[in-house]
Amino acid sequence: MTHPSITSNRPRWRSLGILALLLALLLWPLHELAERYYSARLAEQNRQTLDLYVANLLGTLRSYETLPGILGNLPVLRNALLSPSNSASLELANHQLMRLKHQTGADVIYLMRADGLTIASSNWDQPDSFVGRNFAFRPYFLEAMDGRLGRFFGLGNTSGKRGYYFGQAIEHGRERVGVLVVKLDLDRTETLWGNSPERLLVTDSQGVAILTSYPGWRFRTTRPLRAEEQEAIALHRPYPTLDLQQLELDPVLWLQQSRQLDEIGWTVSILTPASQLDRPVQSILAGGGIALLAILALYGLWLQRQRHYLDRIALSTRAQRELEARVLERTRDLESLNSRLKQEVLEREQAQQELVRAQDELVQAGKLSALGTMSASISHELNQPLAAIRSYADNARILLEHQRHDEVNANLQQISALTARAASIIAHLRAFARRDRHAPESMALQPALDDALALHAQRRRTLDVELIRDLPDAPLWVQAGETRLRQVLSNLIANALDALAERPLPRKLWIAARHDEQGVSLSLRDNGRGFSQEALNHALEPFFTTKTSTQGLGLGLAICDSLMRALGGELQIGNHPEGGAQLILHLRLAEPGTNPYPPEDLSA
Ligand code: ADP
Repeated sequence: MTHPSITSNRPRWRSLGILALLLALLLWPLHELAERYYSARLAEQNRQTLDLYVANLLGTLRSYETLPGILGNLPVLRNALLSPSNSASLELANHQLMRLKHQTGADVIYLMRADGLTIASSNWDQPDSFVGRNFAFRPYFLEAMDGRLGRFFGLGNTSGKRGYYFGQAIEHGRERVGVLVVKLDLDRTETLWGNSPERLLVTDSQGVAILTSYPGWRFRTTRPLRAEEQEAIALHRPYPTLDLQQLELDPVLWLQQSRQLDEIGWTVSILTPASQLDRPVQSILAGGGIALLAILALYGLWLQRQRHYLDRIALSTRAQRELEARVLERTRDLESLNSRLKQEVLEREQAQQELVRAQDELVQAGKLSALGTMSASISHELNQPLAAIRSYADNARILLEHQRHDEVNANLQQISALTARAASIIAHLRAFARRDRHAPESMALQPALDDALALHAQRRRTLDVELIRDLPDAPLWVQAGETRLRQVLSNLIANALDALAERPLPRKLWIAARHDEQGVSLSLRDNGRGFSQEALNHALEPFFTTKTSTQGLGLGLAICDSLMRALGGELQIGNHPEGGAQLILHLRLAEPGTNPYPPEDLSA
């Protein structure tokens, strides 16, 4: 990680190395093939060129080879030989030879006596004239005098030019009287070869380069000379120097083809620098290399695409696996969240139940505390009848001793009435203090009202009270307890009938209900005398009553007020502007229930 460039470069170098090795391995056979092909082509070309040169050289030599024999029979030349002192015949011979030279293209044609002295020559009038010179030492003369065709390569003694000499003896009868020599100029032949990239080389029987298209090679020997060869060279001096330099031709650098000319003992060679093959071979290699690189690049590209494709597949597989893992994780999270929510719902339900229970407890506690505040009045109210009962009982005992039975009876009736009153007080208090089975529930108002009215139907008829109802047909759902609401309604109706009983006809009772968002208001109005001012101030307190002890205990409205408050509602007392009392119950609206007429709560 500390050397990212090094670690990332290493594989690149390695792949480059592998690429180079691969190229070398593939290009090596191509190189071999190309080299072989071009060598063969060059060899073929060279062979043709060599054939051409050999034919040219041999053709030239052969065309002169027969010339001395033919010309030797010319009478002019014979006469000159036979009468050497005759200057006229010598002059004729000189002119003849000069003409022949121009006709044949030979370099020099000359006539020698049997002792080697030149008596006539084509160049007789030139400064380098051969006339008067003796060439008896020349091998061609010796060979000709020996009866053979004399041949010799050598530099002209006076001209210094390379020449090829043909010598043929001229016979008179059986005697060889002289030799006719034709000399060719080989310098010209060499010049004709021109300046070609391939080099031509003609070596003589001693391996010395006598003709060559490359002047630097001239008169250099291609092999070590033997002692007798060196002696012959020293004797005949065919080359301009006796100190012949060695010519080293490296067969690696030079491609050589040679042809042996047996009749003259020469070898004609054509040499091409091996470097001449380099260019075509290199272009073939370059082409091959480019093609290979292109193929490799295409292959690499294909591999890369393949790898990309595989990478993409691997990536998408990984992504899918990650997605699956994430979905699994999310599902697990959701499951745990779900179970937590379930747990919370459970806890909330429990809390709700706790709340309901707590509300119940509160209602109950509220009622008990109301009873607590009432306890002083309660004990006072109970003590009164109890004290009266005791005095009536004491009185009755005394009256009984005096046999005053009627008065005893009256006392006992008083006691009975007082006991009933005490029992009534206790019954009311017990009803109030009793724990309801339920918290406020949804219930319909009209059925509860009907029940309460039914309880007092008999008395209402007796008093001839007209009932005026103004209630909607649809059930008005309110939050209340079945028993408690009936208890309240029953109390209020009873109070209204009490008030109406004290007045003459017509007696009327109005019951109306209306509802809005806040809740339901139920109004009970009568046309009695209404609340006195004192009653308005104290009617809700326990044991306030304007009635006689047999008629009322003064607990009705106090208990109704407590019950209404426990239900979350309110009891409002007052008088109607047109006279008579009007009591209004405010109740909370509730969600519609299933059955507006539940079975009567008998425990009430
Ligand atoms: P009780 O009926 O036993 O007197 P309540 O607490 O029910 O006790 O009533 C208290 C008092 O309120 C009654 O004594 C009466 O003076 C007055 N009151 C109640 N209802 C009416 C009514 N409809 N018309 C006139 N006065 C009433």
